[in-house]
Amino acid sequence: NQGIGSWPARRARMTPERVALTYLGRDRTYRELRDRAYRLASALGVGRGDRVAFLGANQPSLVETFFAAGLAGAAFVPLNTRLAEPELRYILEDARPSVLVLGEERDGGGLPGRHVEAGAYEALLASGSPEPIDEPVRQDDVCLIMYTSGTTGRPKGAMLTHANLTWNTFNLLVDVPLAHDEVALVSAPLFHIAALAQTLLPAVLKGGRVILEPSFDVERTFDLIERERVTVMFGVPSMFGFLARSPRWAGADLSSLRHLLCGGAPVPEPLIRTYQDRGLTFLQGYGMTETAPGALFLAAEHSIAKAGSAGVPCFFSDVRLVAPDGSYAAPGEPGEVYVQGPNVMPGYWGLPEESAKVLSADGWFRSGDIGVADEDGYVRISDRMKDVIISGGENIYPAEVESVLYEHAAVAECAVIGVPDEKWGEVGKALVVLRNGGEPPDLLAYLDGRLARYKIPKYLQFVPELPKNAAGKLLKAPLRTLYGSDLH
Ligand code: ATP
Ligand code: MG
Repeated sequence: NQGIGSWPARRARMTPERVALTYLGRDRTYRELRDRAYRLASALGVGRGDRVAFLGANQPSLVETFFAAGLAGAAFVPLNTRLAEPELRYILEDARPSVLVLGEERDGGGLPGRHVEAGAYEALLASGSPEPIDEPVRQDDVCLIMYTSGTTGRPKGAMLTHANLTWNTFNLLVDVPLAHDEVALVSAPLFHIAALAQTLLPAVLKGGRVILEPSFDVERTFDLIERERVTVMFGVPSMFGFLARSPRWAGADLSSLRHLLCGGAPVPEPLIRTYQDRGLTFLQGYGMTETAPGALFLAAEHSIAKAGSAGVPCFFSDVRLVAPDGSYAAPGEPGEVYVQGPNVMPGYWGLPEESAKVLSADGWFRSGDIGVADEDGYVRISDRMKDVIISGGENIYPAEVESVLYEHAAVAECAVIGVPDEKWGEVGKALVVLRNGGEPPDLLAYLDGRLARYKIPKYLQFVPELPKNAAGKLLKAPLRTLYGSDLH
């Protein structure tokens, strides 16, 4: 078995007594993890090509189900616990798993297929055999079907192979020198790619200890960092922001932290500096579910000098920026981010047409994101293609307009969307959240002279807040629905 399902067994050959998982104060060694994965793999009754879904917060049964599915040659399908039942049903009907393992007690009546209730999990596992199962799993078998965040539409099931996830681990380890004694805190949800591929898997490969947290909690995070001497963690920028704004920040003992991995959204420069003042430097990155996920990586030593950029391509991957006419974008010019490498997915589950749209024959994946490289090749991710406004044949990149608005002291948050216009096809509309107090400033006058005329939004509206998803990503689709027709 060449797949990732065999990793606990490979680790247990070398370091069986080491702690693999800590969950709510309970430890499980690599030997235990291996034995439990074998038992579960035999008890689940699934085989090559099947799917095994899991719905629940971070917990040992999620990790065991992932490895057990891999041992059996089945694909693991982790489900986002924040989704409403119709959304879950949509994904389950799409993935058609042989079995759905539930991490928590819930009324699963509305969800299709065979379920393993949380309360029945231990008994099922105990009924399996601890003998190694002998399934000829290959590196290019699908290991994981992970649904994208659905920021821009319906979530799509990105198929990731054992090889994709293995190479992503290599991409990470080339530049993040994880040691054998790492203590990895995993509190971002494992149903998103980053927590699974950027912390759990590399830590297991190295034989480190993974502390699983059911969810991210500021107080618990400080407690665990101090008590368990956490050495590595992944977070989206908003998680690190919560920590820095906590009353505990100033007095916390953060001396154990070696690697802080941050990605999923641009990391604001003030946040980089706040951590830098405590001697902590982010390892930033850009990626997406489809690339398992690492594509760009910003090493610690360039964190400040290249603040705002997401870095250069990961060691085993390549990134190019493609201009609208198909040529490579020159430094300073925007282009769509294309990614190639052994971490790129073979396609979306059950969507051959969508897959063909984003994957070229020679293996380049079109991300749908827009990036701009500097002279040294450091790429700043600016916008999503779907958010670009085309006004009288000119492309307006909302991020550029937003960054100028952000320079105005009264602007707390802003977003620029495209709205229909008879004359120009589309024009910009700025939505602005003001800092507390004061008269609304004339921001359109402020932009005059700072931006080319055609880039200046035609409309501007002050709003109380901007909608974001659980990962802290600004959601432009609801903004268009909410404010896209109110034009004055
Ligand atoms: P969907 O594809 O369903 O619309 P999604 O693209 O948000 O959802 P993910 O795969 O979880 O789903 O997120 C990847 C996206 O997150 C990238 O395509 C990019 O837009 C954004 N992103 C990730 N890292 C960064 C970063 N460092 N800077 C800016 N944006 C980032
Ligand atoms: Mg996407």
